[in-house]
This record gives sequence, C-alpha cells and structure tokens, in this order.
Amino acid sequence: MVHPAAYDGGMLRAALLALSGDAPIGRHLRRWAEHSGWGRRLSGRFVAGLTLGDALAAVQQLNRQGLAASLDPLGEHVATRAAAAQAAEQAIAILDAIAAVRADATLSLKLSQLGLDVNSHGHDVDRDLAAAHLRRVLAAAARQGNVVCVDMEGSDYTAATLALVEQLHAEGLPVSTVVQAALRRTPADLERLLSQRIGVRLVKGAYREPAERAWQRKAAVDECYLRLMRRVLEAAPGLAAAPPGMTMGAATGVAIATHDERLIRAAVAYARQRGLAPAAFEFQLLYGIRRDLQRQLQAEGWRVRIYVPFGPAWYPYLMRRLAERPANLLFLLRNLGN
Ligand SMILES: Cc1cc2nc3c(=O)[nH]c(=O)nc-3n(C[C@H](O)[C@H](O)[C@H](O)COP(=O)(O)OP(=O)(O)OC[C@H]3O[C@@H](n4cnc5c(N)ncnc54)[C@H](O)[C@@H]3O)c2cc1C
Repeated sequence: MVHPAAYDGGMLRAALLALSGDAPIGRHLRRWAEHSGWGRRLSGRFVAGLTLGDALAAVQQLNRQGLAASLDPLGEHVATRAAAAQAAEQAIAILDAIAAVRADATLSLKLSQLGLDVNSHGHDVDRDLAAAHLRRVLAAAARQGNVVCVDMEGSDYTAATLALVEQLHAEGLPVSTVVQAALRRTPADLERLLSQRIGVRLVKGAYREPAERAWQRKAAVDECYLRLMRRVLEAAPGLAAAPPGMTMGAATGVAIATHDERLIRAAVAYARQRGLAPAAFEFQLLYGIRRDLQRQLQAEGWRVRIYVPFGPAWYPYLMRRLAERPANLLFLLRNLGN
C-alpha cells in the first residue's frame, strides 16, 4: 500500500508502514514481538505457523477445499552471505517437501532474502549473490516440475529484480514475477514481460513509494490496476501453458492478486466477455484474508491460489497487512483475549 496518506486513517497507515521498516523503533518492536507469545498469537491470523510442517498442513487443508497455494518462507533483507545461503537451502527444502507430499503448491520468494542487499547499501543492489542462489532454487523447481514466483519489493529493487527474472527465464528456468499497479513504470515493464511470455502476478503494491515513482491516490492506483488487469487477461491464453516439465498444480502464467471485490468482479466480467476458460488464469489472495471470497470464487469455478506465508520472521509482513487495513489491528487486539 503505497499511498497511505490518501486513505482514511492515513496517519495510522503511514505509522504502521514505518514500523515495518528498518528504523530503530521498528527493529526494537520487531525483536520484542517475534519473541513473545503475545506476538505469535497476534500473527496467527495472517501467518500459517512458524515451521514448514505448520505451513504444509495449512496448504493441504487449502488443497482439500480446492484451493491451490504458494508457500512464502518469510524473511527479507538478509544482511550476511550465510543467511542468504541458508534461505536458498530452505527454499530448495520447501520445493522437495511440496513434491514429497504432492501438494498443489508453488513457491514465492523475495530476492532480498537471497542476498540482493548483501554488499550493498539499499540503493546500489548487488545481483550476483542473489542470482547464484536463485538459479539453484529454480533448477530444483525445474527438477520437481514446479515454478517459483519472485515477489516484488520496494521500488529500489524493481529494476534489479526484473533484470534477473528476465535473464533466468531466458535460460529456460521456471520463474515468474510480480508487477505493481502503483508504480508509474509498470505498464512498460508489463509489456516487456509479456513479450517474453514471463508469467505475472498483478498486485496494487504494498510499499510506501515516493510520488515521482508511484501513484499516490488510491483511485489512481485502482484505475491503473483495472487497465493492467485487462491487458494481463488479454495475454493470458498465450501464457496459460505450464512451464516445460511442469507436472503438478499447473500454475497458470497470469494471476489477478487482490482482495478488492470490485476489481475481482471486473476481472470475472472481462474474462467472460473474452470467453476465457477458467484455467487460463488464476485469482490469488493472501492467507487469512477474505476467506469468504476465496471460497466463493472457487465455488464459481475459477482457479484460486492462496499465498501462504510462514516462519519466525513474520513481523514486517504482519505490519504491511495491518497498514492495508488498520481495522485489523482492532480485530487482532480483540481476539487476543479469546
Ligand atoms: C497473492 C498476493 C501476493 C502479493 N504479492 C505482493 C508482492 O510481491 N509485492 C507487493 O508489493 N505486494 C504484494 N501483494 C500485496 C498487494 O500489493 C496489496 O498490498 C494487498 O493485496 C492489498 O491490496 P488489495 O489489492 O487487496 O486492495 P485494497 O484496496 O488494499 O483492499 C481492498 C479490500 O480488500 C480487503 N483487504 C485488503 N487488505 C486487507 C488486509 N490486510 N486485511 C483484511 N482485508 C484486507 C478489504 O476488504 C479492502 O477493502 C500481494 C497480494 C496478494 C493477494
């Protein structure tokens, strides 16, 4: 959510986003929250547990309801080479576990988890370390017949993320990525990705961005999302095929990822108007958010994939979810007593 001031409760949203970052107060709150029982209970609504076992159990339950999943091992902006290597090993272990239990699940990862920040100071990112790790993870995905979606982080990382995804996709590895409707650069990025037949997940954008890079008003972001959504759906049939060797889950190339019911209904109407088969694209929603809508879309025959975050490093993720809807804060506080 890029445009906190434009929403009702903008100050609270801006404060929550600031607390999700790396400022000293955010760091202190994070250390306290992630180690307290109170904090863990707080995160349970949006995070599928602390371990891979917890997350796989959640995925299997979703699969039984006809919902696919994408596992997201939480963690971002690792500061050391060792932590980046460990994140890559963990990603490969997750792909192995998905295959072992034959879950209908893909993997979502952030490049700053694989070391994009190591040796750099935020703006001047170093691709080599993350590239080496991502290549290994994608090779494991290819062996398993699976696909990895590279999440999109703040706009300091957009160019490096896209360049790496395009490079590894050109090497024939099974990778897709995310485009954020809020960013002014996105229409051009989207065209380039589609021309290479790279799968895309369309989101609004979860980060606070400056006006020169991003639309600031919610109405402008929504309007942009609507335009890009039509473009993505037009391209969907050309991207519907699973990547080479893909055997499980048959993730589609194109995903409409939002909880915004108005935009979801517009996507449904547009897909029907264009005569798109339900298998041509998928809706994606976050674990624990609008579960009613998740079930409803699935019952209507659409493909639905749930993004399932897990792991002990849940604090920045939770803060972004609270910033999107500060009413969640009230909901969580109320339920702490139960
Ligand atoms: C599958 C998936 C993957 C994503 N990956 C990325 C990524 O890689 N990079 C990135 O920048 N962003 C990512 N996002 C987040 C996205 O950018 C938005 O910040 C987030 O989805 C909220 O925007 P919205 O589209 O739901 O619309 P909004 O306009 O924010 O919300 C519309 C309605 O949805 C419901 N809603 C939205 N958020 C919440 C919430 N937190 N709790 C409860 N209800 C809520 C409310 O009813 C709200 O009125 C992802 C989102 C999804 C669904």
